[in-house]
Amino acid sequence: MADIMVVFDFDKTIMDWECDDWIVHEFGLIDLVNELLPTTPWNSLMDKMMGELHSRGKTIAEIADVLKRATMHPRIVPAIKSIHALGCELRILSDANLFYIETILNHLGIRECFSQITTNPSFVDEEKGRLRILPFHDFRSSPHGCSLCPPNLCKGAVIERVQASVSAEGKKKRFIYVGDGVGDYCPSLKLSEGDFMMPRKDYPVWDLICQNPALLKAEIHEWTDGEELERVVLRLIDAIITEEEIKSGRSISSDREMQNIVDHRCACP
Ligand SMILES: [Mg+2]
Ligand SMILES: [Zn+2]
Repeated sequence: MADIMVVFDFDKTIMDWECDDWIVHEFGLIDLVNELLPTTPWNSLMDKMMGELHSRGKTIAEIADVLKRATMHPRIVPAIKSIHALGCELRILSDANLFYIETILNHLGIRECFSQITTNPSFVDEEKGRLRILPFHDFRSSPHGCSLCPPNLCKGAVIERVQASVSAEGKKKRFIYVGDGVGDYCPSLKLSEGDFMMPRKDYPVWDLICQNPALLKAEIHEWTDGEELERVVLRLIDAIITEEEIKSGRSISSDREMQNIVDHRCACP
């Protein structure tokens, strides 16, 4: 079992889409969203949209069917299966919500590859048959206080919690974090030396990192699409496993894998 934890963002990392945008687009809610956006936090706005869909007679099953149609790069599922097969722990850290993510992962048959999904909670109001979406942090009673993150979720705080629980168990894990969005910047700053940050090239987190890459302790390896994500993440895992084997004297491995890790460093200016 490799002591590697691969943390995936969901929207625009695993999926081609922001799932919220996909739902808004597919159900024709754009005008209503634009009307409410100036006065409503995004997470609360999506909860309102679920109320709107319910009042229009849309069922949970119809919402699930729309989610199952959301597109993704064909190499993402094989990449996730390979990472899992290599004995790495996989987690999702997302500002979408549990209903969207579980619906899609179950549909793809890869739910069991992930040991944990950390995201905004959601539940079906059984009486009304309406989907509710709640914030991960209760920002009214206990705000997270991070200025980089939206009020409902600080992914950096989640990463710190995971790091603390790993070390409380007396373990050491190498983290690989894969993401694209503004919300993935805060956790990238929390990664340690020996960890890897994989920002999606030309997406907001990559832009933020490129402003001052020296702020990250983790090594930065960019990717553009699912094919490159697969190639880079598998190469990093291979390199970590080789490195750990060399350290523990278990194998005389070639320099090739060690070289591979260097080949895909971030090219940001
Ligand atoms: Mg994202
Ligand atoms: Zn934060």
